[in-house]
Amino acid sequence: MPGPDVIAIDGPAGSGKTTIARALADRLGLAYLDTGAMYRAVAFAALRAGIDLQDEVALARTARAMDLQLDRTSCVVDGVDATQAIRGPEVTSAVSVVAAVADVRIDLVGRQRNWVAERGGGVVEGRDIGSVVFPDALLKVYLTASPEERARRRAGETGGIDVEVVAADIRRRDAADSGRKVSPLVEADGSVILDTSDLTVDEVVEAIVALLP
Ligand code: C5P
Repeated sequence: MPGPDVIAIDGPAGSGKTTIARALADRLGLAYLDTGAMYRAVAFAALRAGIDLQDEVALARTARAMDLQLDRTSCVVDGVDATQAIRGPEVTSAVSVVAAVADVRIDLVGRQRNWVAERGGGVVEGRDIGSVVFPDALLKVYLTASPEERARRRAGETGGIDVEVVAADIRRRDAADSGRKVSPLVEADGSVILDTSDLTVDEVVEAIVALLP
């Protein structure tokens, strides 16, 4: 049986995933899902409820109970507009802890698979999409970029935060995301590795389109 028509875009923070995945979805007329925003939404809900980030049971309960309305332009968590807050420093520093909880991942992976099942496919970006969520994806891309380039991009996006501060945060999240026991960030079997450091967005998108079966 053929798998769903998923294009999996994985990679570390600042590798260009979001920009590329969105542009690719537009280019191909496919829906787009940002799974990082889903983990950020759970972190937002947990911080808002004052949950102890060491309490894995409470974090998993928060994930299961969360009403999430996520689309290209907004993120509404339990009726509260969290579009800006999920990109803020509190959520960014809490998200890797939340994402390391196995039962949080089980809940969100289920939601991601439902999202694809409802649409028959799409461009899905994250850390474990090709390795765990959709191992039968039509195409698996693992984006990378040099640490300096990734920090420079993130600093640009976050508007004036010092590049060194951003670089330190990226290093911390890389270590947490790659070192965790459940679904660590890895290059999935069968994935194509693309270094985006010296490429434009259009060049990366065209390279991915050319890889499609
Ligand atoms: O992609 P973004 O940087 O917004 O992801 C935020 C965090 O969510 C990552 O640092 C990682 O801890 C977690 N994440 C994950 N699995 C995914 C997507 C994101 O663990 N599929």
